[in-house]
Amino acid sequence: MKEQISALFQSGSFVDGQWLSGDNTFAVYDKATGEKLADIADAGEAEMQTAVQAAKAAFESWSAMPAIERSKLLRNWFTLMTERSDELAELMTLEQGKPLAESKGEIAYGAGYVEWFAEEARRLDGDILPANSAGQRIYVSRQPVGVVGAVTPWNFPNAMITRKAAAALAAGCTFVVKPASETPLSALALGKLAKEAGIPDGVINIVAGTNSKALGKVLTQSPDVAKFSFTGSTKVGKILTADCTSTMKRVSMELGGNAPFVVFDDADLDAAASGAMASKFRNAGQTCVCANRFIVHEDVKDAFVDKLLAKMADLKVGNGMDEGITIGPLIKEGAAENVHRLVTSAIEQGATLKVGGEWKAGSFYPPTLLDNVSTNMDIVNEEIFGPVVTIMTFKTDDEAAKLANDTPFGLASYFYSQNISRIHRFSDALQFGMVGINEGAISNPAAPFGGVKESGYGREGSKYGLDDYSFIQYRCLGGI
Ligand code: ADP
Repeated sequence: MKEQISALFQSGSFVDGQWLSGDNTFAVYDKATGEKLADIADAGEAEMQTAVQAAKAAFESWSAMPAIERSKLLRNWFTLMTERSDELAELMTLEQGKPLAESKGEIAYGAGYVEWFAEEARRLDGDILPANSAGQRIYVSRQPVGVVGAVTPWNFPNAMITRKAAAALAAGCTFVVKPASETPLSALALGKLAKEAGIPDGVINIVAGTNSKALGKVLTQSPDVAKFSFTGSTKVGKILTADCTSTMKRVSMELGGNAPFVVFDDADLDAAASGAMASKFRNAGQTCVCANRFIVHEDVKDAFVDKLLAKMADLKVGNGMDEGITIGPLIKEGAAENVHRLVTSAIEQGATLKVGGEWKAGSFYPPTLLDNVSTNMDIVNEEIFGPVVTIMTFKTDDEAAKLANDTPFGLASYFYSQNISRIHRFSDALQFGMVGINEGAISNPAAPFGGVKESGYGREGSKYGLDDYSFIQYRCLGGI
């Protein structure tokens, strides 16, 4: 095992405020070097059941705690995350692969959700409605739903947890999460800081293990879990949603995307190229909001592609721990292999390779741009999850809208235009939960993140973010 990865390192799950150990372990690797970072106790169904019971037991006092007290504890957690952000970022780059500067960005972003929901915790207010009879009063109160179960992915090992956990805790719920087994160290470090922050035992539980099916089943089928929240692939999301029906759980699903990035002929092309870089290459293209399809007006296509190619020439692929690296490894070799399959088949079907596209083995993939892509190619119908730009053209606004919406997914979308009428009309035409207008980076704790269609449902962040973790209780007070 690598010595002293971090003072925040933990080697087993965090359940009821205790750190679990065990003889069965799984290895976590440095994604750039392949070196083993640590062995982690491999938790199974029994540990997950214990975690759910701990969360159930803790719910009584946590939900009864005045909102201001929950808010203070969340703020403590935020402060510790911020103070320890350099360590958290290093741990993340090692186990996830993204460049250190991006990891620091994610820690600030993830902590931002904790800060946001520390504030929102105090605003879970109710309502008084006019009644139909003089002798009655109608009160509406918002109550915490109970124990929340969550499963999170490896692409944002910190923020995908905090934006669920902080909202759940703010609403008065307790929380059990299974992080991705590729990136458990960042998750467990969050548990360590939560304990230091004074968040009571059992309120947050982090169960790290490799048998995701068995661990997921406990969360989706336990009658003691009131709500299930998932971020990951649409394929797995559908299975988990189906599993939740036997107990009628409330469900939030933040699933895959296939984001269009439309550039109109009136766009500021320099801004569009900068936005394209931000949207496409973050996390080496491994985000569900990464632009997947560039749809560019035919009159500005060549100019836009030239500007983008010039910017792409500055990208530096390598170990994310090294200075100046902007593209780290993909999460594993198989991921690079899948990206290469998409690129190769697109070229065979007539796409033009402008840059990149060379790969033999390993998890690093070069920034790539494919021109003359068409809608029948797999590369525009699947999430690429790699640093590859695909370019299609259009002539009319109607055609651009049809192309943009031509996908079962509806998470993020982006377009660049300087025409205010077009901005309103085109936004209305887009069937997506999020629209970046002259913006390539739209995620933010103050904004509602979420999708439509097969990208799922539920919103994370913003004033709407508490809705998924609370239910409306109507109280009819009679005899007045
Ligand atoms: P990704 O492509 O991001 O790995 P997945 O949907 O496969 O997307 O994984 C997201 C999360 O879901 C991870 O924590 C993974 O371990 C978990 N997961 C994968 N399959 C299942 C399953 N059948 N049941 C429960 N969790 C699962």
